[in-house]
Amino acid sequence: MSKPVITNEIRKNDKGKDVIYMFIDGIKVHEDDVTKQPLPPVVTPGEPPAFVAPPSDAIVLFDGTEESLKKNWTDTKGNPSRWKMVDGALESVKKAGYIQTKQSFGSCQLHVEWASPVNVSGNGQGRGNSGVFLMGQYEIQVLDSYENQTYADGQAGALYGRSKPLVNVSRKPGEWQSFDIIFHRPIFDEKGEVVRRATFTVLHNGVLIQDHVVLSGGTGWNGPHAATEYKAHADKLPISFQDHGNPVRFRNVWVRELHDKPL
Ligand code: MG
Repeated sequence: MSKPVITNEIRKNDKGKDVIYMFIDGIKVHEDDVTKQPLPPVVTPGEPPAFVAPPSDAIVLFDGTEESLKKNWTDTKGNPSRWKMVDGALESVKKAGYIQTKQSFGSCQLHVEWASPVNVSGNGQGRGNSGVFLMGQYEIQVLDSYENQTYADGQAGALYGRSKPLVNVSRKPGEWQSFDIIFHRPIFDEKGEVVRRATFTVLHNGVLIQDHVVLSGGTGWNGPHAATEYKAHADKLPISFQDHGNPVRFRNVWVRELHDKPL
C-alpha cells in the first residue's frame, strides 16, 4: 500500500498572515486553481431506483418515522436532536448541531440518501453543505455540486480535504441522491500511532467515486488550506450528519457492520 506524501508549509497569504498549506502528493489541499487541481468530469446518473430497501441483516437507522429518529439519534451531547421531520425526511436545522447515532460503529457498509435544498441559495461551500461522518469525524462531503463550483476535494462525495471524487455525478437540487459507503476504520497502536489507515469505497447515485481510497489523515477543517491529521480514538464511534447551516434532508439510512481483517 503506497503511503501518500504529506508536507506542510507555513506561507504568508495575500493579507500577510501565516497560513498552513498542506500538500498531499504535491497537490495543495483545497486547491481551487483548476489548472493545478482539475475538477472531476461531470457524469449524468441513471434514473434513480424507487428506493433501495435495506437488506435483512441491516441495522435500520432512519426509516422515515419519528419513532426511528427518537430511537436511534441524538445531538452530540446525547440529548434529543432539534433536527426536524419534513415529509418523512430528516432535515438539518441551523445551529441545532450535528445529529449522531446512539449506537457506535467501526468498519461498516452504510447507505444514506440525501437531498440538497430545492430553493438554491449561496454558492461554493455555502450551498447545500452537510456531511456524512464515519466515526463522527471522517467526512464524506454532502454539497449541492450541481453546477456549483468549489475546490475539488470539497465537492459532493469528496473525502473532505483529502480525496476528490472520480466524477461529479450530482443530481439537481431537491432530488434524492444516494451514497453507498464501504468504510474500514483506522487502527491505532497503544502509543496512539496509526498502524492501518482508514479506507473508503463510495458510490454516489450508483457510480463509483472513491475507489478503495486509503485516507491519508483526518478530514477536519484545519485552516484554509489544511486538514487535520489522525488522532487515536475508540474502535467504534457514532455516525453523524453535519449541521452546516443549510436545510439538507436525509432519508433511508441503514448500516451493516463489517469485520476488520487481522493486522
Ligand atoms: Mg460538509
